Amino acid sequence: MHHFLYRDNYMFCEDVSVSEIAGQVGTPFYLYSHATLRHHFLTFEKAFEDVPSLICFSAKSNSNLAVLRLFAGLGGGLDIVSGGELFRGLQAGIPPDRIVFSGVGKREDEIAYALESGILMFNVESLQELESVNQCAARLDKKAPIALRVNPDVDPKTHPYISTGLKENKFGLDMKSAAEAYKSAAALPHVEVIGISCHIGSQVTDVAPFIDALHRIKELIRSLETFGISISYLDLGGGLGITYDQEAPPHPNEYGKAVLEALGDSAFTLILEPGRVIVGNAGILVTQVLYTKSGEEKDFVIVDAAMNDLVRPALYKAFHAIERVVRDQEETIRADVVGPICESGDFLAKDRDIPRVEVGDLLAVMSAGAYGFTMSSNYNSRPRVPEVMVKGDQFHVVRARESYEDLIKGESIPPFLSAFAEDDGLARG
Ligand SMILES: *Cc1c(COP(=O)(O)O)cnc(C)c1O
Repeated sequence: MHHFLYRDNYMFCEDVSVSEIAGQVGTPFYLYSHATLRHHFLTFEKAFEDVPSLICFSAKSNSNLAVLRLFAGLGGGLDIVSGGELFRGLQAGIPPDRIVFSGVGKREDEIAYALESGILMFNVESLQELESVNQCAARLDKKAPIALRVNPDVDPKTHPYISTGLKENKFGLDMKSAAEAYKSAAALPHVEVIGISCHIGSQVTDVAPFIDALHRIKELIRSLETFGISISYLDLGGGLGITYDQEAPPHPNEYGKAVLEALGDSAFTLILEPGRVIVGNAGILVTQVLYTKSGEEKDFVIVDAAMNDLVRPALYKAFHAIERVVRDQEETIRADVVGPICESGDFLAKDRDIPRVEVGDLLAVMSAGAYGFTMSSNYNSRPRVPEVMVKGDQFHVVRARESYEDLIKGESIPPFLSAFAEDDGLARG
């Protein structure tokens, strides 16, 4: 479900014409629908309303302040993986006691920042990290609330780069070491064991791997109880997939039902860390056709957005539907939709049947709300594009387009290069 729909062949985001926004902010830009974000968040939350639960939106999927603020207003928490994401969450008004901190490589300054902020819990991924958290908490005279992230060794059958719950993945502690690690944690004076967490992967389109993981975790919890360790928070991570193309992932209701059934009677507070399923289809990337080129084998449509703006096709061969903002042609062509970057991997779509387009046409790259802007970069010294949010008949630029000045912010020329040296080998007149 999303609010990017056509009215008389013009694409609208809610009640605003996408062409009109393009006219005002220029291209490319990311466009998010407030109604869609809100609907997705509430639908997901409702699926778990029968048990004590907390929805900690995964900041890395879309960390714009306006997006985080919207979820904060709906009672949402946040799943963070860095100090920077903690800063964003706090700036957006997410209460610290609704923030969980995941990630395999938390630095000491990040741990201290999170402790001082009073976050809900650290999802600790190794024994060394556990030690670090304990020491840091000791220095600050605090007790760090922790969960251990365990790796349930289930195959989520997703792209290998976004699968995280297999033995060979770098994430979490394997099931065998986990019980021992819990015993070590329970013995640490500045750590308080409150939870258990896992996250099996992303863009998972079947409930079975989630349920397998949950059963394994419940088993582990039972054995922990025999050592006198009790768990209050069970964090099942994120990972529920969306439809980019033909995928048919379970609806959040179906996912919630299956999880609650497998959970059975329990006194846990369930934590979920959805990212993509909330924001993915709530955003698009709008781009303009710069040139078209007919090759011998196929056509090329060269647009002003590139892999630095949306890296998913280049990185994962991900599919994003390409739609016209104004539908005025029925004839289709087979083409690669490519950006201006000097890399053959710079494409948004490959060998795709798309409507014939002309220079100046606007295209919408669909399902770009998750891992779109957050993964963008300045490669080729391209300023990052603006983000725009629509609510009803209004739109607001929620992140300005970067300028050339922004590109060199923080850079400086050292004194030994400030004048051209005489021996630089260049002849000067
Ligand atoms: C990336 C990530 C998520 C979110 O994954 P989605 O597939 O976007 O739902 C949740 N938890 C952790 C620990 C993550 O690394």
